[in-house]
Amino acid sequence: MKFISILFRYFLKFLIFIPVLLILTGKFASPKNHIRVESLPGVVKQGEVCLISVLGPASLKSIYVEFQGLRFPLAFSEQNGSYEGLIGIDMNTQPSTYEMKIVATDEGSDIHLSNLSLKVEKVDFGIQKLSLPSSMVDLDRKTLERVNKEERRLKSLFRAFREERLWRGAFVRPVEGELSGAFGFSRIINGQRRSPHTGVDLLAEEGTPVLACNSGIVALVELLFFSGKSVILDHGWGLYSMYFHLSEVLVKEGDRVGKGAILGRVGSTGRSTGPHLHWGIRMSGARVDPFSLLNIRAHHNFRE
Ligand SMILES: [Zn+2]
Repeated sequence: MKFISILFRYFLKFLIFIPVLLILTGKFASPKNHIRVESLPGVVKQGEVCLISVLGPASLKSIYVEFQGLRFPLAFSEQNGSYEGLIGIDMNTQPSTYEMKIVATDEGSDIHLSNLSLKVEKVDFGIQKLSLPSSMVDLDRKTLERVNKEERRLKSLFRAFREERLWRGAFVRPVEGELSGAFGFSRIINGQRRSPHTGVDLLAEEGTPVLACNSGIVALVELLFFSGKSVILDHGWGLYSMYFHLSEVLVKEGDRVGKGAILGRVGSTGRSTGPHLHWGIRMSGARVDPFSLLNIRAHHNFRE
C-alpha cells in the first residue's frame, strides 16, 4: 500500500512538471497572422516555474513570451531544435485562464505575434504558526523604517533586467538537508498574520557551505534585519536567487560566480530560530518555489 502511495506521489509530481510545450506551426516567412500556436497542457500552479518550448526557425532575431506585462525571453536550443525559456508564475497570481503572447522577430525584422492561453491553478499553501521573541516581531519605529527601506531596496533590485542570460542548464540545490519550511505558507507569528513565506528553508549545520544554484553575478551582500547576512545573485533575464541567515559571506558585490561556487556558510543570523538556509527565487519579480526550478532539470538543455 505504502509503495503504491509513493508511486502515486511520484506520478503526480511528474505530471505537475510536464513542460508547457508550445508548437508554433505555419511558416515564419508566411504572413504574420498565419502563425498557429498549440499549448500542451497549458496548466500551471501558483508559484510554479514552467518551461516553454516553441518550434520555429533558428534564424529568428529574438523571441520572448509576455505574461501579465512581464517579459520572459527564449533561447534557441540546437539539441532540441526549439526555442526554450522559463516562465515564473507569482504565488499570488489569481487562479484563472490568461492570454500569453509570444513575440518573435525574424531576420527581416518582421514581428510575429501569437496568443495562447495558460491556466493558473490555485494552490493551498497552508499555514505555519511560529513563536518568536517579541523584539523580532513587534518592531519599534526606527527598526520598522529600516525594514521598509530594505524591502524597497530588494524590490528595485528585482526589477532590474539584465539582457544577458548567465545561467546555464539545470539548477542545483544550494545545500542538502531536510526541508523545514515549505514555500508559500502564510505565517502566523505570535498569534498575528504576517507576510507569507516566499522561499524554502533547508536545515543544515552551522558552517555548511552554501552553493550558487547557477552561474550569475553577486548583486547584493548585506546584513538585513530579517534575513541576516544575505547574498543575492543576478542570473540574468530577470532571474534572481537569494541566500539568507548566513554565518559568513565569502563573495562580494560584482563577483561573477559559477554554478556550485561557495557563496558563504549556513548560519542563523537575522530572524531565525536555528541554523538553516532560506533559499528564494524571483523571476521578473514573480515569487516562485525554488524546488520547481530544480524539477525542470530533466527537460531543458540550453545552448551553452
Ligand atoms: Zn525562510
